[in-house]
Amino acid sequence: MLEVIAKIPNEGILLIEAQAMSIIESLKQISTLDTESAGVLIGEYRGNHHIRVVGATRPGQIDRSTRFSFDRRSPHHQNSVLSAWHSSGKIQTWVGEWHTHPEDYPIPSSIDIHEWEKTLPARPMVLLIQGRKSHWLGISIRSVVTSITDYLS
Ligand SMILES: [Zn+2]
Repeated sequence: MLEVIAKIPNEGILLIEAQAMSIIESLKQISTLDTESAGVLIGEYRGNHHIRVVGATRPGQIDRSTRFSFDRRSPHHQNSVLSAWHSSGKIQTWVGEWHTHPEDYPIPSSIDIHEWEKTLPARPMVLLIQGRKSHWLGISIRSVVTSITDYLS
């Protein structure tokens, strides 16, 4: 698995480290029976515009998942963010969201966009949808979602 590097608005750089991508890519919806997976992205803001993602939470047992939906109910997502926050000396925090789609080249659904606009904080938040052959990357800044492109894909 490779890290992901992308350019974000205002000359920023997004780095998603390989260990975070390997968790997400291991949950691709390859089989027709695979249901959606989702979690949060944990990382840090560096300077004004750079974001480094170091981890991703996996789905938990009480999360509810179907082929086309995911309801993140498990408290372990929030708990993982809190424990990263404390163990990193208040540097690592909640920097984004990821989920899977059962399509080769995923794009956000109108429900995805609506949910992000409604629930995400104003600061830059990384959005990743993992499809079967590639992923879609975006960033939300003050509730405006913009798609961004990898350097290396
Ligand atoms: Zn979606």
